[in-house]
Amino acid sequence: MMLDVSNIQTFYGESQALQRVSLTLDAGETVCLLGRNGAGKSTTLKSIIGLTPPRAGEIRFEGQPIQGWPTHRIARAGIGYVPEDRRIFPGLTVRENLEVASRQRSGAAAHWTVDGILQKYEMLGERADQDGATLSGGQQQMLAVARSLMTQPRLLLLDEPNEGLAPVIVQQIGELIDDLSHTTTILFTDQSVRFALKHARRAYILEKGQVVHEATSEALKADPATQERFLSVA
Ligand code: ATP
Repeated sequence: MMLDVSNIQTFYGESQALQRVSLTLDAGETVCLLGRNGAGKSTTLKSIIGLTPPRAGEIRFEGQPIQGWPTHRIARAGIGYVPEDRRIFPGLTVRENLEVASRQRSGAAAHWTVDGILQKYEMLGERADQDGATLSGGQQQMLAVARSLMTQPRLLLLDEPNEGLAPVIVQQIGELIDDLSHTTTILFTDQSVRFALKHARRAYILEKGQVVHEATSEALKADPATQERFLSVA
């Protein structure tokens, strides 16, 4: 098992955002965390990466307990994270955005290199010398994901990669997730059932900080009642 999140409870001050959330990912899986606004999707990813450390519960990555570790140590252990707001470094070119990130990687052999990424993903390669801040929303998302690859993650956490993007770009992000899923284990969050079912093998549904449903994409596809009950069916 690659990731084992067990009964985590996460708070913002006195307010409890996650109530005993548990989930697991096997190596090689692509899994989606679904749920409406405020359900706790982002907080779950932030808890795993250590930005909002859980007050109780356990998180194991490749068997090793990582809760309580600072974020940079968790990242270095092999978990990549792309936050909802993408945070492209302004004033740096596409290439420089990748180069800065590649300096943060551990000593592990590099599967992903700056040149390799720029060659593989034409959309970025064509804009290698352009200021990252001048890219469109979808291009920035591609760059944010590519940048997270520079740390050579074995597990990738993507927070609402489609948020605010046009349908044609959403399709490209889907293709990117499909492509990366051949080499990387992925946990992404989304509000759209359709996208999740297309690109993830399994899904967890969160509501009010709790996992209320867990199913394979196939089972969820055939279960409109659950979709309607817990999700905005977009
Ligand atoms: P969204 O799609 O809006 O990002 P989400 O499912 O990712 O939704 P979270 O952002 O994890 O949900 O929020 C879970 C709960 O925690 C919500 O009730 C939210 O109001 C609360 N929350 C999130 N961030 C903070 C914060 N910085 N301070 C206080 N409460 C917060």
